[in-house]
This record gives sequence, structure tokens and C-alpha cells, in this order.
Amino acid sequence: MHESFIIAVDDEGMLLIDQHVAHERILFDKYRKKETERKLESQNLLLPETIDLTPAQSIAFDLIEEELENYGFGLMRLSGRTVAIKSVPTDLPASEVRNLFAEILDTVDKEKRGFAKETLRDDIAASLACKAAVKINMKLTTEKMQWMIDRLLTTSSPTTCPHGRPVILRLTMKDIERGFHRS
Ligand SMILES: [Zn+2]
Repeated sequence: MHESFIIAVDDEGMLLIDQHVAHERILFDKYRKKETERKLESQNLLLPETIDLTPAQSIAFDLIEEELENYGFGLMRLSGRTVAIKSVPTDLPASEVRNLFAEILDTVDKEKRGFAKETLRDDIAASLACKAAVKINMKLTTEKMQWMIDRLLTTSSPTTCPHGRPVILRLTMKDIERGFHRS
């Protein structure tokens, strides 16, 4: 529907699924798996991206460089506060790399005072999942939609995205019958 929402049915009625947050939930769960259970999937960029960090971002970068490499980033410190990104996790479109980096480093900077590794991991995984997920207003094949629903249902929390937004709106048979004055 409107190249943004998947319409599906099950025994209880009808489901409307937001394709972006559904994919986000699937990827978030994948990124949050323990490093030992997760296969490191990385793709080389044709041209390494170089980013000039602010002083605050540079401090944040030192804190999480190793963590980012665990997700499949290939990183290299150049001179001063310049960083080269040579490879990125496979799901991530190259066009999103720059924004994602700024977003993650700024989050780390904000959280630095109450530095807790577990929330940091969640935040990195959530940012990564958001940037790598399909967008709304993006046409999906039937196969991709089917894949999305199947995978979504096996995630830790199919009905909410990592930021707490709903993934699925439900219309039960009762709601539908009531709407048609059949009950
Ligand atoms: Zn998102």
C-alpha cells in the first residue's frame, strides 16, 4: 500500500505492517546478536569515504572504533582528526555512511558522561538498522515482502521497532465485523 505498508492477513484478521520499521527490527536483532554468533559481513567501498571529525567526535571515535569494527566497518585513522572508512556492513547503502557516522558519534558524545556499554551497543545497532533498512515510498517485490513478514515474526519483538514505534497495526475480525454492523 502506497509503497510503504504491507497488507497481510492471519487467523485473527488483518495486519498493516510498516516496511521501514519492520526491516529495522529484523536488522536490529541481527546486529545485537553476540559477536560470536554473528557472521561478520562487510563490503568494500569503491572509494574510501574520508570524514573530518570535530574534536568531540574524535574522542567518541576512539571510544567505539573497536565496536564499529565488530559490526563490519573497516576504519583507518589518517592524520589529525580525519578518518577513512574503507568498508561497511553489507546491508548498509554507501550513500548512508556519512550520515550514520555523524549520528553514532554524536550519540556517543551525548552519552559519554554516563557511559554504559550496553545502551551504547543498542544505540549503535539501532542507528545502523535504521540507515540500512528499506525506506517507506520504496517499491518491494512480493518475495521481499514475504521474507520481511517471515523474518519479522521470528524477531524478539515483532510489534515494536528498536525506538519503541509500532511495527504492526491490527484489525481483528471482531473490529471488521463490528465496522460492518455484523456483530
Ligand atoms: Zn528508522
